[in-house]
Amino acid sequence: MEKGARNLKSLKFYVHTFGCQMNKNDSERIAGILSTAGGKISNSPEESDIIIVNTCAVREKAEEKLYSYLGRLATFKKKKKSTIGVVGCVAQLYGSELLEKKPFIDFVLGPDNYNQISEIIHSNHEEKFASTSWSQDYNEIPHEKTFRESNISAYVTIMEGCNNFCSYCIVPFARGREKCRPMQNIIEEIQSLADKGYKEIQLLGQNVNSYKDPDTGKDFSILLKEANQTEGIEWIRFITSHPKNFTKKIATTMKEAEKVCHQLHLPVQSGSSSVLKRMNRGYTREEYLEKITILRNLMPDISFSTDIIAGFPGETEEEFQETLSILEEVRFNNIFSFRYSPRPLTVACQEKDTISFEEKRRRLIEVQDLQKKIQLELNKSLIGRDLKVLCTGKSKKAPHIYSGRNEGHQVVNFKSKNDVIGCFVDVHIASYGPYSLHGEAIKQ
Ligand code: SF4
Repeated sequence: MEKGARNLKSLKFYVHTFGCQMNKNDSERIAGILSTAGGKISNSPEESDIIIVNTCAVREKAEEKLYSYLGRLATFKKKKKSTIGVVGCVAQLYGSELLEKKPFIDFVLGPDNYNQISEIIHSNHEEKFASTSWSQDYNEIPHEKTFRESNISAYVTIMEGCNNFCSYCIVPFARGREKCRPMQNIIEEIQSLADKGYKEIQLLGQNVNSYKDPDTGKDFSILLKEANQTEGIEWIRFITSHPKNFTKKIATTMKEAEKVCHQLHLPVQSGSSSVLKRMNRGYTREEYLEKITILRNLMPDISFSTDIIAGFPGETEEEFQETLSILEEVRFNNIFSFRYSPRPLTVACQEKDTISFEEKRRRLIEVQDLQKKIQLELNKSLIGRDLKVLCTGKSKKAPHIYSGRNEGHQVVNFKSKNDVIGCFVDVHIASYGPYSLHGEAIKQ
């Protein structure tokens, strides 16, 4: 039943994002839809008429954080009758069940249903509303509408979903099967970002290496080459790559396409072939290391990052030691490491989780301590070097210090006499920590 149409022009909205870059880009697109319809973006949920919560289900902890945040929203709702919408992966997984469990939520939308958002708010439905349908094709949201957080570096989604069914991962259930965006639309978006003065783009997808243009079948290497032609864009990055789909052809394109950064996030998850088999990752330790060698031979300056899961069900001490040894062998510039947490619907969650919370925690700390030591050594070796940095703003902790990232995607904080936000700057590195480099601009 409808209460009657509502004019979005008088309404303030707030979007809260949990999760990965894909979610951040989805939130930018949702904000774009609402602002195009006349809504005014707000930084404060307390002052907003509409609150959208974009959710992540990839780990148990992310879901726990979401439910605690929703608890706070329930309190706002008592004071101000805001419309509350929950979107994204948790919305897709639980659909109308969420509306029953959390009666203060007004609507729930899965990732393929964002185009409906302004219509739902505009029509002001009295009844609660859940839409979690899948479409077979990529769900195009006009890119002109995207409300981007940065005017220097932009996310460009190229595909969604995943066909891999790694045994621990909920993504294929929350995001559906792979759907690739037409290459023409991607290139048009990149061109329009270049026209607006963006310097860097990050191509996004759950498994970008399996990208194929739905009309022509052109693959990810061709997309990189085409993106490389865009005048104005100077750096191109992409995430996430799957080691099993990362081909020599893509590696060669990375070397030859001069705008593609020599930086790669290649999630290994475990250093043990037997654990990788149980994870259904589709490669062995040796195959992963072979790809690293090929990439390093082609681009000796390449920097790598990875994901690690500590305490996968049944992981023995010996298997865990293989994860530590792969960190030593590859010497990643950065890692994202997590304790294994069971996710509903997955194969791994049906297995008996025999490793205690304390033991998983011990393994995670050991991974992180070792990685910290490696990062300190790698960063120390950069002292005295001049690095090209794209300055994206000022340091949050010290507002007189500028901040950006180098080609290897490391955080570089530096002093500069001039305002260099949005510029490429050569920075002389003078000191370091485990997670950032520090120096002074030498050329502007
Ligand atoms: S490749 Fe595996 S870990 Fe990555 S999204 Fe797909 S199922 Fe999840």
